[in-house]
Amino acid sequence: MKTAKIPASNQEFPIGKIVCLARNYAEHARELGNETPAAPVLFMKPASSVIGDGEAVRIPAYSQECHYEVELAVLIGKQCRAVAPDRALEHVAGYGVAIDMTLRDVQNQLKAKGLPWEIAKGFDTACPLSAFVPAGAVADPHALNLKLAVNGETRQDGCSADMIHRVPQIIAHISAIFTLEPGDVILTGTPAGVGPVRAGDVMTAEIVTVGRLTIPVT
Ligand code: MG
Repeated sequence: MKTAKIPASNQEFPIGKIVCLARNYAEHARELGNETPAAPVLFMKPASSVIGDGEAVRIPAYSQECHYEVELAVLIGKQCRAVAPDRALEHVAGYGVAIDMTLRDVQNQLKAKGLPWEIAKGFDTACPLSAFVPAGAVADPHALNLKLAVNGETRQDGCSADMIHRVPQIIAHISAIFTLEPGDVILTGTPAGVGPVRAGDVMTAEIVTVGRLTIPVT
């Protein structure tokens, strides 16, 4: 079983569902040639896809193009259903850093056929996830710098201020569809700069004050 940990408060949650936003930063939507959506575009990763700091991403044999996407992760601490945006943050236990590993070639083939994305987004090791800091340690989840480097070279350097849909609206929207439960995780989308990694690369992802991941690729 995979768990989400908040070391500062000694809390640990079995990870439930991982609900992810696509195209939540306009620059990134543009770089992939996608329209900016009016409503959040959602998909999910299974808890089995989670790996921790220092563990390796294994690129499946059915893909030749595996991309990194650094994202702010939101850990739910209290159950909520159809919560109002102004009450949404009360249900957040903590914040962390995730990498939404994506088999871009497979995803593009699925998108072209109108098929679901799970095998491009939910494979084993597709969700590197840091430990979490308590929600109270993050004064503003929309004032965070998200960085990702490959082999020490910066590839993504964005700010959560550029999210199209913000965390309270995201939680309100998702919780009207799926009851959110303690241990559920939301990945809030990636800024521009996504690109491929290959076996032998090492990714470092960082959100200052929130977390850091060092993830090799095999
Ligand atoms: Mg993503």
